[in-house]
Amino acid sequence: MKQKITLLILICVLTITALAVIQGYFIYNTYKLQEREVKSLVTQELLDIETSGKLDSINKSWMIKTGRFINDYTQGRATKEDYALLIKKTADSLSPVMSDYIKHKKLVGDYDVTYSNYVKVVRLQDQSSKVIDTLYKGKLKLFSNNITNAEETEASESRWRESTTATPESPGTYDFEIVTSRYYSISNWERQVLYKMSGLLLFSVGLLAMVIGLFYWSIKNLISQKKIADVKTDFINNITHEFQTPIAALTIAVATLKKKDTGLSEEQFYNSLSIIDRQNQRMQKLFAQISDASVGAGQIDISGATHINTEYIQQAIADFSISHPQAVISFSGNPSAVLYMDSFHFTTLLNNLLDNSVKYGADTIEVIFEQSALGSAVYIKDNGRGIPPEHQAAIFDKFYRIDTGNVHNTKGLGLGLFYVKQIITAYHGKISVSSDEGKGSIFTLSLPIA
Ligand code: ADP
Repeated sequence: MKQKITLLILICVLTITALAVIQGYFIYNTYKLQEREVKSLVTQELLDIETSGKLDSINKSWMIKTGRFINDYTQGRATKEDYALLIKKTADSLSPVMSDYIKHKKLVGDYDVTYSNYVKVVRLQDQSSKVIDTLYKGKLKLFSNNITNAEETEASESRWRESTTATPESPGTYDFEIVTSRYYSISNWERQVLYKMSGLLLFSVGLLAMVIGLFYWSIKNLISQKKIADVKTDFINNITHEFQTPIAALTIAVATLKKKDTGLSEEQFYNSLSIIDRQNQRMQKLFAQISDASVGAGQIDISGATHINTEYIQQAIADFSISHPQAVISFSGNPSAVLYMDSFHFTTLLNNLLDNSVKYGADTIEVIFEQSALGSAVYIKDNGRGIPPEHQAAIFDKFYRIDTGNVHNTKGLGLGLFYVKQIITAYHGKISVSSDEGKGSIFTLSLPIA
């Protein structure tokens, strides 16, 4: 069964992982698809701007300035370095126009799109398009819509061929070629795409969480059902074992008594009677344990609570010692200490704890009784076999026995400590254990001030 559960957990984990990977893969693909869609939409919109002729006036402006510069350059009134300055100045005046235009037209939807145009090359050419001189080579911004995004993607390149216009100062005309390049970048497209996909993302995460929750809940249920089934099986095994001895003894005693007519000595008669009596008592005790344990803490009647003093406890210990002479039980503590509990309940719980100490290997037991401003405490310290740490919290559970599977070793139904806890809880107290395996245990009962 344990192997089956482990296998089931493994299958669940694998299924969830596979589901998560498949979902992740689909989400990633959708993201990539959306990204491509956004980029192609923006590129298309920018292309539309360029081909619509709306930028003609802007382009004309820098083109005319470049023609005039070439006139000046060829007449020696300007140097190549001056071209960069001229374009920078031109960009400063053209960029706001461009920004306004894009904003006004809302051309690129909700995206923060940087659209920039750069001069890459300016060359002087002769009639046969042969390059005479290169005025500029690099990347000079002509205009942009002023939003500055880090990564730019080159969208397209244009080649412009023009001629200078002759003026009185520059009578000759020159052919020139300008290469310009357009770049764009979209700064918040990731956010936008994710926003668009948020419904899908939430749905996927919710679905996965639901599957995980369902698996967790099912496995938890299965484990707890298995625990309950194990506990029930153990209980049936234990109870069968516990009743086997008295029933066998009773069968023998009854068989002996039946021999009455064939001569039964008086000794045999009283012997059988005492066996019947002892086994009857034992079965009653077992029955009492089972019925006691079926009572919840809330159902324990605490109306008979009185002050129990050291004398009472010492007497209860002495009574216990008579039937358990193999153990030395000492008592110490505050002589004036008292605790508030029904004496029957107290004797039952003390007997249960002392009985456990003897049953689980102790030959020396120490009972300490103390009282402080916080309440009363009883410590039962034994030198028995101790309780392994992993079992310490569970021993107060119903039917819990550490030596399950080894039922012949020590008798019990796993109900003693459960009942002790029920009593203590009914009086709003607490019980705890600390133990060193192989060395002994200390059970601590603490009760509030009455
Ligand atoms: P039972 O004694 O019938 O098994 P209990 O509820 O009294 O049931 O105890 C539960 C388990 O706790 C026991 O099976 C035993 O293994 C362990 N235990 C209880 N008291 C002691 C003790 N003093 N020393 C060692 N083990 C103990």
